[in-house]
Amino acid sequence: MKNQISKIQKIAIKEIGKVKSLEDLEKLKVKYLGRKSVLTDVLRSLKDLNPEEKKAIGEESNKTKQAIDLKLKEKEIEIRNKELKNIDEKERIDITYPCGQTKRGHLHPLTRVRYEIEEIFKSMGFLVVDGRDVEDEFHNFDALNMPKNHPARDMQDTFWLKDGAVPRTQTSSVQIRFMEKNKPPFRIVSIGTVYRNENSDATHEFNFHQIECLMVDKSGKITVANFKSVMSEFMKGLFGKETQTRLRPSYFPFVEPGFEFDASCPYCKGSGCKICKKTGWIELGGAGIVNQNVFTSVGFKEDEYEGFAFGFGIERLAMIKYGIDDIRLFHSGDLRFLEQF
Ligand SMILES: [Zn+2]
Repeated sequence: MKNQISKIQKIAIKEIGKVKSLEDLEKLKVKYLGRKSVLTDVLRSLKDLNPEEKKAIGEESNKTKQAIDLKLKEKEIEIRNKELKNIDEKERIDITYPCGQTKRGHLHPLTRVRYEIEEIFKSMGFLVVDGRDVEDEFHNFDALNMPKNHPARDMQDTFWLKDGAVPRTQTSSVQIRFMEKNKPPFRIVSIGTVYRNENSDATHEFNFHQIECLMVDKSGKITVANFKSVMSEFMKGLFGKETQTRLRPSYFPFVEPGFEFDASCPYCKGSGCKICKKTGWIELGGAGIVNQNVFTSVGFKEDEYEGFAFGFGIERLAMIKYGIDDIRLFHSGDLRFLEQF
């Protein structure tokens, strides 16, 4: 009987040693340790033996069970480790593999100019304020001293929505919304998209970007000199320290007096070239001392505050800065253009 048991153990250990999968291992477990195992069959035939012999054989069979159980467990660990290693090999990621095909994007030239402008104004203590793209008539026109039938409305060709709202024609509407909630003193800039109902050509787009700047304080504290100084710092920051600025009288409904301002050409330094059409100067935008009607429209008392405002197109600045000759390229999505920046 003892011989029979040790023979079973030997065969079991041998068989377990050859197994390669967990399924086959489970079958052997049932075969040698299950309720209907070969070992159980042997033990069942003990009933004719005396108690002494029964005890000895019982101990022997328990030892065998333990030995087989241990072997099964060892084998299971071995198979699992092998499987993990296989997965490891199959799914290995080589982090040193060259990834040449991945193309990196970069900021659009307009976004770059926009960030640059924001940084310059922030360094002068200006707050960058956001506004909405679709405005009502009051914020886009009335509050900016352009009531209905005012001839100045014709200066801007406007898209009108069915409900009377307007895709804003200028970022000046942001000033109005800001002043409705904040009292001076303050200095803000706002940059965003504006919409004009006009045909596109090399220098015009129906959709472009503007920057709007507003600085307001008690009456008597802000003068044209403040404006000239801010403007001059801004232009030097964008086009270089040697840049000159100048003002020319002009008319805009929301300022009184109003100016157009120019910067000396950054290419020829004022001597005249193709970019500046031989004048040495580049026209940039409109500015002036805020008309009191604008302040009263947001609820400020007349003559209590004074301030300056100016606005101009971002595309025009980017075109000058990068020497771009067609405004339509910005929204063309043409990679041959964009990849140059
Ligand atoms: Zn020039």
